[in-house]
Amino acid sequence: MARVMLIGAGGVAGVAAAKMAQNPDVFGELLIASRTKARCDAIKAGIEKRGFGKGGARTAVSTAQLDAMDVSATVATIKSFRPDIVMNIALPYQDLAIMDACLEAGVSYLDTANYEPPDEAHFEYSWQWAYREKFEKAGLTAILGCGFDPGVTQVFSAYAQKHYFDTIETLDILDCNGGDHGYPFATNFNPEINIREVAAKGSYWVSDPAADKPEVAVENRKAYANGWWVETAPMAIKREYDFDQVGRKDMYLLHHEELESLGCNLKGIKRIRFFMTFGQSYLTHLKCLENVGLTRIDPIDFKGQKIVPIEFLKALLPDPASLGPRTKGKTNIGCIFHGEKGGKPVDYYVYNVCDHQECYAEVGSQAISYTTGVPAMIGAKMFLEGKWTRKGVHTCEEFDPDPFMAELNVQGLPWKEDFDPVKVP
Ligand code: NDP
Repeated sequence: MARVMLIGAGGVAGVAAAKMAQNPDVFGELLIASRTKARCDAIKAGIEKRGFGKGGARTAVSTAQLDAMDVSATVATIKSFRPDIVMNIALPYQDLAIMDACLEAGVSYLDTANYEPPDEAHFEYSWQWAYREKFEKAGLTAILGCGFDPGVTQVFSAYAQKHYFDTIETLDILDCNGGDHGYPFATNFNPEINIREVAAKGSYWVSDPAADKPEVAVENRKAYANGWWVETAPMAIKREYDFDQVGRKDMYLLHHEELESLGCNLKGIKRIRFFMTFGQSYLTHLKCLENVGLTRIDPIDFKGQKIVPIEFLKALLPDPASLGPRTKGKTNIGCIFHGEKGGKPVDYYVYNVCDHQECYAEVGSQAISYTTGVPAMIGAKMFLEGKWTRKGVHTCEEFDPDPFMAELNVQGLPWKEDFDPVKVP
């Protein structure tokens, strides 16, 4: 049985830990290490209260205080606990420090979000892909972005490519949260990371910019991976979609990290877009917060002290981990592909619907943390069972999707297929 070290003790880490405890035959020992030890202890207590386990087997859970920005402290904790894999479910700011610690201590790595420098609202894979050779040479595996999106959306893409298409021409990723937490404004995962993501410019990827007819003003075009990023103002492209079990929602085009790796890894791909649903109240609040400067990430002087407005805003907003009991409704996240097989056109939509209240009843969390924490656990399980062990640094579409897809169905995130979906114009 394996030993896992989990870094972070927020909403997503809490779900990943609970799901590991539901699979004690794989996850024999779990160390939860995070900046605030009390939050690690609370996750451990929650697992014990719910009596997770299988038959008489239980995962042995321990906790520790750790600042993961301190590489030598992380190395010391790894060396003392001797895990088979380190799961980084802290924040994207810690990715590189934890990867450095894993290399030094000789252990494999998994995370759920790609690296983002704290002083620049910008995320991309290049920083972590620069570690490919180091992980390969050390004989270690790094699995990047193993949540739902990124994560399952790439597993869906690999599955579509493997089973239904010779070439995929277009991919639309649709992320719908039909849940309501009753607050006028709150974010479903870490507020700082969430607001930085949605306040960024929108972008989509195309292989041939000459064939693209942009519907809004293009602010920038950048060459990338045999194609181009087309960049627009934030939230400039809007669509309405009727989601299964949720209903009609407005959704907006965002830049998203999996577009970057899928642009490199999907055969014949011509266009990839990512849409996320937002309600009008969320957008109005966000615009107002932006207009008054509360989403700024640069430090300002306040009464002789330096404060970063977005960090201050985070302190005011509800903790995403506390939304569980209040959130009602469902999420629906999936991918719509168009391409061809054997010379015939194929349309394929694969998606998961997840119920906030059912997640809360099972693990004490809302569905956003659940849909991220479950795939993170499955990714670690794939590694520990020898199914996803390719050496180097890889995103989820680079592994065999079949065992992961099978696990989604038994670990709480069953998926549905539709071969005649309504397409996004
Ligand atoms: P939270 O803010 O709830 O939790 C983050 C945790 O990381 C906290 O426990 C925090 O500690 C801990 N932490 C922060 N800095 C450090 C540090 N230096 N050393 C050790 N621990 C630290 O975030 P979420 O649980 O909502 O999100 C976790 C991750 O999942 C994020 O990277 C997020 O971007 C990603 N995510 C990915 C999704 C996907 O689909 N791929 C979807 C949603 C989220 P403390 O308790 O002291 O604050």
